Amino acid sequence: LLRVRGLQKSFGSNRVLESVDLTVGRGRVLALIGPSGSGKTTILRCLNGLELPDGGTIEVAAALVADRVGGGTAAGRGAASSASVTFDFAAKTSPKQLGALRDRSAMVFQHYNLFPHKTVLQNVIEGPVIVQRRPAAEVTAEALALLARVGLTDKQGSFPFELSGGQQQRVGIVRALALRPQLLLFDEPTSALDPELVGDVLRLIKELADEGWSMVIVTHELEFAREVAHEIAFVDGGVIVEHGEPKQLLRHPQQERTRQFLHRLL
Ligand code: ATP
Repeated sequence: LLRVRGLQKSFGSNRVLESVDLTVGRGRVLALIGPSGSGKTTILRCLNGLELPDGGTIEVAAALVADRVGGGTAAGRGAASSASVTFDFAAKTSPKQLGALRDRSAMVFQHYNLFPHKTVLQNVIEGPVIVQRRPAAEVTAEALALLARVGLTDKQGSFPFELSGGQQQRVGIVRALALRPQLLLFDEPTSALDPELVGDVLRLIKELADEGWSMVIVTHELEFAREVAHEIAFVDGGVIVEHGEPKQLLRHPQQERTRQFLHRLL
C-alpha cells in the first residue's frame, strides 16, 4: 500500500529525517516509537503531504477516492487496483502534487485540531464536501452513521469546547474516516488525554485495525503498540534504527540504541 524510500527532511540547518525507509501493507498497522524529537511526527506529516520532503520517494496505491464508494469495512477497498503512484521528491514534487498524496491518507492529531467554531457534524463533513467535492447529503448520512458508531449521535450539534478530550478525539477519528482514506495516520492520539479517557480511544483504534484499516501510529504507549501493531519501527536521529514484529522488537531488540530507549521506558 505504501512504500517510502530514502525520505529526507530538514528545517533550516536541522536535518530531521536523515533517510527513512518504511513499508505498510494493505490492512497492516505500523507503530512508530522513539525518543522526543527523533522525527516521528515529521514522518507522518510527510506521508500526509503536510510537509514537503527534500528527497526520497513515497509510493502509494493508486486507487482514487472515488473507487472506494460503498462503505463497509476497509479490508477490500481499492484492492481492485494494483497500480501505484510514486512521488519523487528529489525531482521537485510540487505542492499541487502533494494534494494527491493528501487524498490518500487522513491524519488524527494529538490535539484533535477540530475547527473550534464548527459543530461536530460540520467538522466531519467539511473535508469530504469542500475538498473532495462529494455530495453533501451522502457525506452527511455517512458522517451520522460514523458518529453513531462511536456513541456521539447526541453531540452532532455541539461545538468542540463542549466535549471532553476523549469525545473530541473520537470526532477527530470519525473526521479522518469520513475522508475514506487508504491509510490512517495517528500522531500520539492519546497523549493529550486524561488517563481515564485513554482506554476508549485506544479501543476504537484497535477496532479499526481489526477491521482491516491500514495505519501508521506514532505512540508512546508501548503496550498498545504491542497489541495493535503488526510491526513496530524504532525511530532515532531521523532514521529507522530497527523494525520488527512487536514481541521480537520489544523483548529482543537487536540494536543498542533501541535497548537503551526501551530500558528507560520499562
Ligand atoms: P515528539 O515525540 O516529541 O513529538 P517527534 O519524534 O515526533 O517528537 P518531530 O516532531 O518530528 O519529533 O520533530 C523532530 C525535530 O524537527 C525537532 O527537533 C523539531 O524541533 C523539528 N521540527 C519539527 N517541525 C518543525 C518545523 N515546522 N519547523 C522547524 N523545526 C521543526
